[in-house]
Amino acid sequence: MADVKLNSKIPDGPLAQKWAKRKAEIRIVSPNNKRKLEVIVVGTGLGGASAAASLGELGYNVKIFCISDSPRRAHSIAAQGGINAAKNYQNDNDSVYRLFYDTIKGGDYRSREANVYRLAEVSAAIIDQCVAQGVPFAREYGGYLANRSFGGVQVSRTFYARGQTGQQLLLGAYASLNKEIAAGTVKSYPRHEMLDLVIINGEAKGIIARNLVTGEIERFGAHAVVLATGGYGNAYFLSTNAMNSNGSAAMQAYRKGAFFANPCFAQIHPTCIPVHGEQQCKLTLMSESLRNDGRIWVPNNMEDVMKLRKHEIKPSQIPEERRDYYLERRYPAFGNLVPRDVASRAAKERCDAGYGVNETGLAVFLDFADAIKRLGHQRVEERYGNLFQMYEKITSSSPWEEPMMIYPAIHYTMGGLWVDYDLQTTIPGLYAIGEANFSDHGGNRLGASALMQGLADGYFILPYTIGDYLSHKFAEPKTDVNAPEFEKAEREVKERIAKLFAVKGTETVDSIHKKLGHIMWEYVGMARNEEGLKKGIEEIKALREEFWKTVRVPGTNEEFNQELEKALRLVDFFDIGELMARDALHRKESCGGHFREEMQTEEGETKRDDENFMYVGAWEYKGEGVEPQLHKEPLKYENIKIATRNYKD
Ligand SMILES: Cc1cc2nc3c(=O)[nH]c(=O)nc-3n(C[C@H](O)[C@H](O)[C@H](O)COP(=O)(O)OP(=O)(O)OC[C@H]3O[C@@H](n4cnc5c(N)ncnc54)[C@H](O)[C@@H]3O)c2cc1C
Repeated sequence: MADVKLNSKIPDGPLAQKWAKRKAEIRIVSPNNKRKLEVIVVGTGLGGASAAASLGELGYNVKIFCISDSPRRAHSIAAQGGINAAKNYQNDNDSVYRLFYDTIKGGDYRSREANVYRLAEVSAAIIDQCVAQGVPFAREYGGYLANRSFGGVQVSRTFYARGQTGQQLLLGAYASLNKEIAAGTVKSYPRHEMLDLVIINGEAKGIIARNLVTGEIERFGAHAVVLATGGYGNAYFLSTNAMNSNGSAAMQAYRKGAFFANPCFAQIHPTCIPVHGEQQCKLTLMSESLRNDGRIWVPNNMEDVMKLRKHEIKPSQIPEERRDYYLERRYPAFGNLVPRDVASRAAKERCDAGYGVNETGLAVFLDFADAIKRLGHQRVEERYGNLFQMYEKITSSSPWEEPMMIYPAIHYTMGGLWVDYDLQTTIPGLYAIGEANFSDHGGNRLGASALMQGLADGYFILPYTIGDYLSHKFAEPKTDVNAPEFEKAEREVKERIAKLFAVKGTETVDSIHKKLGHIMWEYVGMARNEEGLKKGIEEIKALREEFWKTVRVPGTNEEFNQELEKALRLVDFFDIGELMARDALHRKESCGGHFREEMQTEEGETKRDDENFMYVGAWEYKGEGVEPQLHKEPLKYENIKIATRNYKD
C-alpha cells in the first residue's frame, strides 16, 4: 500500500513523455514576479552552482552559500573521469533508452524508472550547455567531442577533460554564476556554513548560518531553500571526498521533517590508493577512466605474493602465466569495466583469500603495460597523464614502469534526502539536488553519472520544478528573519556550539572521528551482516557518549575555528552512521553496494529480494534517542525487465 507521506508525484503516461507532460503542467512565474521571490541555495558544487546560475538568470533573487573561500572550490572540482551523456557520437548504438537501462541495471533495480529516464533524456543538453560555456572537453581529430567508457556499460558515452572533468565543468558553472553575481541576481556567501533550517508554518523559509571567519551566527530568509550540500561519505573518516564534505545540512533537514532515503547505499570505489597508515586523513581516488585501458590483476600463486610483499620482486617481473586477471576471468563480457560494486567486492575477495600485493595485504594491481605497448606513450599520456603524475607524487612509484596499487575505498553516497519527481523533499519549499538527494542511482551509481545528475538537477530540472511551488508565493512578503522560528533556531545553534566548548575534554575531534570511521568500515562497510550491524549501532552510540565527555574544541566561536566546524559535523556523522547501520540492518537483501553477507549467491554475488525490498526506504526522524520510522515507496518497473545483474555474458 502506498505510504501517504511519500507521494513521488511521478506523472502518468508513457515513460518517454512523462517529463514533457510534467513540464507542460508546471506553472510558470512571470518575469516581473520572479523579481519578488527569493531562493536560498546551499552549496556551490556542480549541483548548487548550476542551479543558482540558472535561477539567477531566470530572474529570481538568489543567495548562495558555501564552506570554502570561493564557490569554485567545492568538492565537485575533484571529479576526474568524466560525465555521461547519450549523444551516440561514437555511433555505437547508444541511446536515451540504453543510458536509462544501464543506470537502472547498474543501480541493481533500486531506483525510480521515471527519474532515471528523465536523467538520460536531459543528458545531451548538459553537454551542449557546457560546450557553450567553453568547457574544454577532449576532442577527436575531426573536432567531435571524444568519449571513453566507464564501468557497467558497453558503449562509450563518457565526455571528459583529461582527468579534470569536474574542475572544468565547475569552472563553466562558476563563470555563469559570476555573471549572475555581477548582475546582482545572485549574492554569494562564501565561508558561511548552514547550521539549521528554519521552518515556518510547515514550509522551509530560511537558514541559520555561521560566518566561518568571524563566528557570527546569521539569519537568512527566502521563499524556498535548495540543499546542494553533497554526500556524507566522510562518515567513514577516510574517504575520497573532500575534507569539508559532510552530511550536516541533510541531517538538519532530517531533524526538521525531511525524510532520509536509503542511507545505507554507499559506494565503495575499487580504484583508490590503498591506506598506508594510521596518520592518514584522506584517500585518493584513481579515476575509473583508468579501467578503460588498465588491467587489474593479482598473482595466481602465493609464492609471488610473498615475494612482492617482501619487495624481492617487482610486479613487472611476474610473467603472464602467473597472473590472475580476475575481473576478465570472472566477467568476460565486461572485464575490467564491471560496475564499481562488483569490482570492489572482487578485489576484496582476492585480498581476503590472501592474494593482496602490498604489506597490508589490501591491494591489487592496475597495470598499463599492455596499453602503453598498444597505444604508445603519447596516447596514454594524453588520456591519463595527470593521473599518472598524481599517483607518482603520492606513492613515489611510476605507473609507466610498474602497475599502480589500488584498493576499494568509500567514495559516494547514493542515499540522501528523499525527493519527489520535482526534487522537493517532504518539507514543502525545501528541495535537494546533486549528491545530497537520494538520487537516481539506486543501490550503486555508475561512473560518470554523478556529474550528469548534479548538472541535470541544477541546469534543467530544479529551475523548472521550483517554479511550480514559487508560483503560489510571489504575493507573499519577504520572509521576516525576526520571526520567532528564526529566533528559536538561532538560539539552539548557539546552545549547540556552547555545549561543545563546555566539554573541555582531552580528545581531538579527528581522533574520535577516526574511531567512528573504524566502526563504520568494520560493520557498515563493504560487507555487512546482522550481528555486525547490531554491534556497530551499539558502538556508535557508545562513541557518541564518549565524544560528549572527552572532546576538546580549542579556541572560541568568535574566530576562524576549523576544530569547531569539524566537531559540529562529527555530531551529525554519529547520527548518519547510526541511520546507515539501521537501514542496512533492516534491508535483509544484497543489492548494489549494499552487500549483506547472509544474502549472496554461491559465486559471492549480490542476492536481491525483490519480493520484500523493492522499495525506497525513507526514514522519518522521531526525536532524539527515539527510533526513526521507516516509510516505503514501492518501486515499479514497467518499462524494463527486472533481472539478476549479469556482467558475465
Ligand atoms: C575524487 C572524486 C572523483 C570523482 N569523479 C567523478 C567523475 O569523474 N564523474 C562523476 O560523475 N562523478 C565523480 N565523482 C562524484 C562527484 O564529484 C560528486 O558526486 C559531485 O561532484 C557532487 O556534487 P554536488 O554539487 O552534489 O556536491 P559537492 O560538490 O560536494 O558540493 C557541496 C557544496 O555544499 C557546500 N556545503 C556543504 N555543507 C554545507 C553547509 N552546511 N553550509 C554551507 N555550504 C555547505 C560545500 O561547501 C560545497 O560547496 C567523484 C568524486 C570524487 C570524490
